[in-house]
Amino acid sequence: MKTRREKIKDLLEKTAQPLTAQELCNILEIQSCSTVYEDIEHIAQSVKAEEKELLVRQASCGKCNYVFSSRKAAKKPSKCPKCRSEWILSPAYIIRAAR
Ligand SMILES: [Zn+2]
Repeated sequence: MKTRREKIKDLLEKTAQPLTAQELCNILEIQSCSTVYEDIEHIAQSVKAEEKELLVRQASCGKCNYVFSSRKAAKKPSKCPKCRSEWILSPAYIIRAAR
């Protein structure tokens, strides 16, 4: 049986478009979605050994299109620093071969 991390990794390798943590959580029926962020950070490190990389479509503000640029942040920010909107589009992830 595959571990949760292996399943997430599989999904991110096969998907045609980036998936958010929420989508991964729903697809895999994971109880606590917050663990998905930890898994993603772990996967980002482990795929490097396979000459792949985890690409992140950064979270952005739904109102002013501000893009959250922090490279590390797997977690979804709660508020836009520019316009204070709380309409935040979640970051999404996909695994592709590294160039
Ligand atoms: Zn904004």
